[in-house]
Amino acid sequence: MSEVIVIGGGAAGMMAAYAAASGGHRVRLLEKNEKLGKKIYITGKGRCNVTNACDLQTYINNVVSNPKFMYSAFRALEPDALMSLIESAGTELKTERGNRVFPVSDHASDITKALTLLMRNAGAEVLLNTEVKDIRIKDDIPGSANAVSPGAERGFEVIAEQGKYRRVFAANAVIVCTGGLSYPSTGSTGDGYRWAERFGLPLVKCTPALVPLTVESGMLQETEELQGVSLKNVAVRIPEAGFDEQGEMLFTHFGLSGPLILSASSLISRKLSEGKHFQLEIDLKPALDEETLDKRILRDFESARNQSIGNALAGLLISSLRPVILRRCGIDPVKKVHDISREERSRLVSVIKHLSYTVTGTRGFNEAIITQGGVSVGAVNAKTMECRNIPGLYFAGEVLDVDAYTGGFNLQTAFSMGFAAGSSL
Ligand code: FAD
Repeated sequence: MSEVIVIGGGAAGMMAAYAAASGGHRVRLLEKNEKLGKKIYITGKGRCNVTNACDLQTYINNVVSNPKFMYSAFRALEPDALMSLIESAGTELKTERGNRVFPVSDHASDITKALTLLMRNAGAEVLLNTEVKDIRIKDDIPGSANAVSPGAERGFEVIAEQGKYRRVFAANAVIVCTGGLSYPSTGSTGDGYRWAERFGLPLVKCTPALVPLTVESGMLQETEELQGVSLKNVAVRIPEAGFDEQGEMLFTHFGLSGPLILSASSLISRKLSEGKHFQLEIDLKPALDEETLDKRILRDFESARNQSIGNALAGLLISSLRPVILRRCGIDPVKKVHDISREERSRLVSVIKHLSYTVTGTRGFNEAIITQGGVSVGAVNAKTMECRNIPGLYFAGEVLDVDAYTGGFNLQTAFSMGFAAGSSL
């Protein structure tokens, strides 16, 4: 039996504590907040999209950074097994569109309740309001006997603050599950990165991902004008990043948001942080090619020859978009349809199919669903999450350089890694 300290009571930490305690180890989970799973409470808009009921290949296709690293951990705890575990603790689950899994109650708190019960039943002890300040390897402690004899278990000291009290926890194994930098108000403030750096582990630069995008200042007036307009069944393309997907997006006062934009951000966030800009195109009518769209517009024009073009486009474009599209085409919205030239019509088709924006950056970590970057996966064993050169020290969850698209894939990643670490002890 080992003394195990798990740092962080998020998805990865709770699963690691459950798995390690189930293996018969003495486990203490230290969480700096007053409650567990503060981030889980806000996931899936408060409903918690806890996983995706998918197979290995679909999961891997949805991991953006370091998918191959996740093979072993995913196999250690697949979505089916995760779902059975949560249901065994009394939280019923349901599967919605796109295999997204939620609690039947639609309350994210029921996921945390189930995990808390699992940990407790397995015998893990939870210490709240306990903020870890440092981890020391026993050899590092001044005055301690230096050598850990070959084969002997490594010793750690975990230094924490509970209010004004300082506590030192001795452990044979430490599992760091402190999360990334996104939504820091939930407790994820990057503490794990600082310890990793001090231990000499390689870090990959952190950037916000699954995050809204900002556009060039000259285009802001237009996105402000469209602020709050949500578009369904459009295509968003970023040719340089190979992004081309259909779905929903939203205009905001700073640029672009909504599901398609968040997904796109994961592919370009790092390059944007290095100062690169990207051309993003919105195709407002992805179901029609340019020729078919032109025919459709001609048909609409024939039945509205004496109307203004603004009115004649009512069947094709929502009212808030019409002035913007016509301005881009250089056509006066009150111009009569019978005065519209072939050249103007062709510009109209082109703008509807290629409404383009120059993307210059992302919003910050406060608005990012996930952190891209973190402790390099090369520093840890993919089966066990144990550091290659510091036996007994483990990293699991968002603190590692793995991130995925939306759909339940990020929580599955955290749970799988936590389980792999805790059960490998
Ligand atoms: P975290 O959940 O960040 O947990 C880290 C924990 O460590 C925190 O409780 C923190 O307080 C604690 N901690 C940090 N430092 C210390 C310290 N020094 N001492 C003690 N404790 C410490 N993913 C999905 O799959 N589905 C969704 O529906 C979904 N929705 C999301 C919605 C939002 C708004 C956000 C921000 C994220 C969402 N995600 C979703 C992503 C998902 O929540 C994360 O990927 C996941 O929670 C990461 O889990 P983690 O355990 O690695 O880290």
